[in-house]
Amino acid sequence: MDCIFCGIVNGSLPTELIYEGDQIVAFRDITPQAPTHVLIVPREHIESVAALGEAHTPLLGEMFLAAQEIAQQEGIGETGYRLVFNCGRAAGQSVDHLHLHLLGGRKLGWPPG
Ligand code: AMP
Repeated sequence: MDCIFCGIVNGSLPTELIYEGDQIVAFRDITPQAPTHVLIVPREHIESVAALGEAHTPLLGEMFLAAQEIAQQEGIGETGYRLVFNCGRAAGQSVDHLHLHLLGGRKLGWPPG
């Protein structure tokens, strides 16, 4: 299987990790859409939100708590930030390995495009 994010997780695609947890890693998006744009990614290959099950509940908790901690580290914990899962092509998902986008550092519009 040829998965970019599995390559980052297993080290075959060298990428600076800004956070490492038991079940997750985080790194900066290669095409940032905001001054802070971090991807929080499970070590396990899960295709998308649509492939999640009840057994993934602790993983999801770890992802959200990591987002909270990274937002503080990035200095956007108080000003505000957005967390996004794109699920499926119509929503813009381009990498089929679950990831949580953490975006902030500028005023973010709503509704999203
Ligand atoms: P999505 O479109 O929601 O699937 O998000 C995938 C994100 O992964 C996009 O924002 C890409 O810019 C980002 N991306 C793709 N390849 C890499 C990479 N090698 N390192 C960091 N970010 C990446």
